[in-house]
Amino acid sequence: MKTLYVPAMSYLDGSMHEGVGFVVDELGRIRARGPADSLRQQYPAIAVEEWPERLLVAGGVNGHNHGFQVLMRGMGEDDTFMDWRSHVLYPVSQNLSRDEIYQSAMLAYWDMLRHGITTVADFFYLNDQGLENAMAIAEAAREVGIRLALARTFYDWKGAPSRYRETPSEARANTVALAGALGDNPMVTVQVAPHSPHGASTAMIQAAVKTARELNTRLHIHVAEGEYERTAVLKETGKTPIAYLDDLGALTSKTLAIHAVWVDDEDLSRLTASGTTVVHNPSSNMILGDGIAPIVTMLARGIPIALGTDGGCTNDRHSIFDDMRQAALLQKVAHRNGHIINAATVFDMGTRVGSEALGIESGNLAVGEWFDAVTLDLDDPSLLPGPPNIAHVVYALSPTAIDCVFVAGKRVIEKGRPTRFSPEMLLKWARQAKPSRQP
Ligand SMILES: [Zn+2]
Repeated sequence: MKTLYVPAMSYLDGSMHEGVGFVVDELGRIRARGPADSLRQQYPAIAVEEWPERLLVAGGVNGHNHGFQVLMRGMGEDDTFMDWRSHVLYPVSQNLSRDEIYQSAMLAYWDMLRHGITTVADFFYLNDQGLENAMAIAEAAREVGIRLALARTFYDWKGAPSRYRETPSEARANTVALAGALGDNPMVTVQVAPHSPHGASTAMIQAAVKTARELNTRLHIHVAEGEYERTAVLKETGKTPIAYLDDLGALTSKTLAIHAVWVDDEDLSRLTASGTTVVHNPSSNMILGDGIAPIVTMLARGIPIALGTDGGCTNDRHSIFDDMRQAALLQKVAHRNGHIINAATVFDMGTRVGSEALGIESGNLAVGEWFDAVTLDLDDPSLLPGPPNIAHVVYALSPTAIDCVFVAGKRVIEKGRPTRFSPEMLLKWARQAKPSRQP
């Protein structure tokens, strides 16, 4: 059944509007948008929901995450990246069972939804040379009701746990099989993710480029996150990490370059020329002490910037609204200039740009798109005094203001609570789920 939703306010195309209605069809797509009074006349027979105290905004798009990492919350936030990787990430992730992978994805995705994230790119590398673990996180996404871009990793660096590793032909065959198994489904898209210049060999990256082309899908890759990678790739290849990837054909308008902190002027020219999107993870970069990605310069050079939370143990929040705030604040500090970036720009990064980068018809609340949306309580103290503008949403919003979350027209969070699953079993597991670092 079609429904007409009438929020008091909505944030559309860069400004606040009052009295706009949205007709959402049975499949969850926006069929009409316009003055609510005319939509009422145009669609006299459909259900109407009035939201007199709500502000409607597009759902957040989390361009980079590793769902299972939520299990490592509280285990290494104050370590260096290398210590965290060796003493937390590798030993813990080596031990996780499929059930723990599934439950941790449920927990992470639920946490994201309740913070207004409607789509997540889960960069997934606990593959055990097969499909079953990835199928388990796809099932978790379906149960919770979040839209998933399943970025299946191509990994062959021998220093990492064996369950991450495959040969290039195994990675390719398993990714094609996974895409076939999950089928043509707007709620789950299989994408290709050669891990990084340090986690994937040249042959592995080439296999990933070929697979992404064959599946006509996106390619995600961590690049230039820490200074060590730039130094190592320069030493080994004589090229910067970005130049190395570009020369392998890995940078295209369907590529998501994750982090891109350690980049020079020539790298930026290559990113611009190839149409690559950079996924900026400001909170994670700060926690790990990676550095500050030059996103103001990137924007000036025409590079699209999306936002990611990164893992639940390197942020540690699952909120794109929060990372919009962090992205803006970090640039203001770096440039010592409060005017260098604004709320509308970072909001756009966390919604429209992320959707475009992932190939999802969402992010603008426009006709024809999925109704992936969040209602905010205009009476929440964090949005007052009213009427709010986009600066309230980016800088002041408290999660308590998030009322309902819709994905493909389905209400998956209502008054802050999940509607699709009962959290009691998950909570029972999660209270006791602290994993072991022992082999
Ligand atoms: Zn990552």
